[in-house]
Amino acid sequence: MEILDLIRQRDPNEREFHQAVGEVVESIKPVLDRNPQYRSAGIMDRIIEPERVILFRVPWVDDQGEVHVNRGFRVEMNSAIGPYKGGLRFHPSVNLGILKFLAFEQVFKNALTTLPMGGGKGGSDFDPKGKSDMEVERFCQSFMIELSRHIGANTDVPAGDIGVGAREIGYLFGMYKRLRNEFTGVLTGKGLNWGGSLIRPEATGYGSVYFAAEMLDARGDSLDKKTALVSGSGNVAQFTMEKLLELGCTPVTFSDSSGYIYDQKGVDREKLDFIMQLKNVRRGRVKEYADQYPEAVYTPADPGADHNPLWNHKADCAFPSATQNEINEKDAQNLVDNGVFVVSEGANMPTTPEGIEIFIDNKILYGPGKAANAGGVSVSGLEMTQNSMRFNWTRDEVDHRLRIIMKTIHRNCMETAEQYGTPYNYMNGANIAGFVKVADAMLDQGVV
Ligand code: NDP
Repeated sequence: MEILDLIRQRDPNEREFHQAVGEVVESIKPVLDRNPQYRSAGIMDRIIEPERVILFRVPWVDDQGEVHVNRGFRVEMNSAIGPYKGGLRFHPSVNLGILKFLAFEQVFKNALTTLPMGGGKGGSDFDPKGKSDMEVERFCQSFMIELSRHIGANTDVPAGDIGVGAREIGYLFGMYKRLRNEFTGVLTGKGLNWGGSLIRPEATGYGSVYFAAEMLDARGDSLDKKTALVSGSGNVAQFTMEKLLELGCTPVTFSDSSGYIYDQKGVDREKLDFIMQLKNVRRGRVKEYADQYPEAVYTPADPGADHNPLWNHKADCAFPSATQNEINEKDAQNLVDNGVFVVSEGANMPTTPEGIEIFIDNKILYGPGKAANAGGVSVSGLEMTQNSMRFNWTRDEVDHRLRIIMKTIHRNCMETAEQYGTPYNYMNGANIAGFVKVADAMLDQGVV
């Protein structure tokens, strides 16, 4: 049976997982044709099935003394090239299908980083939004009481993702340490004075801008004096905007799940500081930006709309940095019609397959998430290395390594795309290069 039919039949409700697998299957057809050993060793049948899925109850008590129960998950997808590595997401939309898609993407992304990391992902349908610090702390502690049995510095090393930032990683780490009586690099994204790495918070956003810069450089162009549409206003969006400003490019949009801001004068350093304070300290909504800066226009989200107006403004570049499937076919066409010719995905799978087709048909410089946002997990890998050495590199050293890794990923994707007859198709390049590395390791290790 064809792989896609198999997963649709086996898990009919996991739409995002089908989408992620579908994209890879399409790209790697020529690789399987040239290398029959992958088929005979059943690599595809094995790579689509998680090595292990852990599903558990997370009971916790709110500030009023009421008991709540959420679901906790960890998908340990593939450990062929290293311990499972991938973030934890706390968001009401979390379910097994979403986490399987994220874990599947993570396997290929981690292979591209050049570092020895397998792929995993986890999280909960818990929503930290609107919860007090104490409620978040109690939830994280309860989550870790179960998760701690399954992870470890050499087994599975989670990190942050949507809804899991420095605060949550702190509470999770504290409980792990207490339960296991050991201080190890079991989580990444830790605080700087207790094992974290410089540049880890910045890494995904910086990396996605470095990837865009590399795509432009390969065409003799740069980000200087360009304008950019950014979505999201969390960790990835904030540091995407920071690096864009440093490289002379002006962000004109950003968003949260309630709506988006268009600032025709552009976000500058002072405005970005306002956003960081608003989101990270006050945990407020982007709407407040328009109250502070009257030149900005706030548009509330319309969940019934067939497109997102954020993607319908004149610009040169787009950095989707919020969530999956936030650019559909119509959005992609709007981007092309508005002159956008560079798309670098900070978020995971933010573009639908129909949207990607429009980018590829229009020869947009399109950096898919598994390549463009690999900077975050790369610096997580560097955090693991520093923890093992019990040593910290300087900010410049980590940033330098991040730049080199993003350059290497870009070159690898570009050369692989050319080798398979699809020049500048970074999606094919990323899927094929990531697949070959993992598949070869699986061949070496036998049917396990
Ligand atoms: P954050 O939680 O810090 O921020 C997420 C942002 O996206 C918020 O502005 C949030 O708005 C918005 N958002 C989330 N879900 C939705 C939704 N369903 N509809 C509209 N807006 C939404 O997460 P990150 O910045 O860490 O992650 C953003 C993306 O980047 C995700 O796809 C993640 O998987 C990916 N990524 C993150 C990495 C990292 O290192 N953090 C590494 C690689 C990829 P609101 O506040 O209203 O929820």
